[in-house]
Amino acid sequence: MRCPKCGSRSTGRIGQDQFYCWDCNVEFHVQGSFVRIYSIDPEGAAILESVKSPNETELSSIRDNAVHGLQKGTNS
Ligand SMILES: [Zn+2]
Repeated sequence: MRCPKCGSRSTGRIGQDQFYCWDCNVEFHVQGSFVRIYSIDPEGAAILESVKSPNETELSSIRDNAVHGLQKGTNS
């Protein structure tokens, strides 16, 4: 899956519907039809940075990849 903030594929799953981007060092949590983006402060605390509402296609792609692991996306 790709980071909803920077578009990087350097992301890892850290929990159910929770992901981390190694490029911009944010956590993002998928909740319903929203993605909450948290920046991580030097002490490791997650600070809510923004909330995005991706379209259904993006959302299902995030979910599919979460379920099936690191699959390559079909579109760039
Ligand atoms: Zn990112």
